[in-house]
Amino acid sequence: MARYTGSVCRLCRREGAKLFLKGERCYSSKCAFTHRITPPGQHGAARKKKVSEYSLQLREKQKTKRVYGILEKQFKRYYEKAETMRGMTGENMLMLIERRLDNVAYRLGLGISRAQARQIVSHGLVCVNGVNVNIPSYLVKAGDEITVKENKKDKAVFADIKGSRPSSSIPKWLEFDTEALKGKVIALPQREDIDFTIADHLIVELYSR
Ligand code: SF4
Repeated sequence: MARYTGSVCRLCRREGAKLFLKGERCYSSKCAFTHRITPPGQHGAARKKKVSEYSLQLREKQKTKRVYGILEKQFKRYYEKAETMRGMTGENMLMLIERRLDNVAYRLGLGISRAQARQIVSHGLVCVNGVNVNIPSYLVKAGDEITVKENKKDKAVFADIKGSRPSSSIPKWLEFDTEALKGKVIALPQREDIDFTIADHLIVELYSR
């Protein structure tokens, strides 16, 4: 499956914001964005940016895609699905993306970044309602139980989580038992559960052009 393999810190510089794509490093002094905030490229620092309405909309969409690690085609599909649902299209789209299994694994703390959580899922370490699911885009439902596969619980990647205090960053629509490495989707996510600032109306405006 196609995926971005370049420098992720470059993406933060491009969007002019910290996207927290590298786990712990993002919170340390090693974060590239704290040293260099200019856009990437030879003329990044010199370029005078003309901010048009279109560029604002495009940047918001690109930022959201990059935070969740989704490529254009799939991102557009979420938008199209959200359009057919009742309510606000932008909010529906974000709620659909938030329900992705790789995002849920990240929000439960199973991975230090969404990229690592995605790998954990695609390597088959996670089960939903007792059934192994290795599809990162799988959408969880209220009541679903997310567990680490029984014979994978001793993997090094889970060593720091097992038996620790549940992270305060776990959103209220999820709960997590660190002893059993077992999570539960208590309810579907709401707009206020999104953990970064995003102007979803700009994305809707861009796609409705
Ligand atoms: Fe972005 Fe994290 Fe790299 Fe900092 S360390 S630039 S927040 S990906």
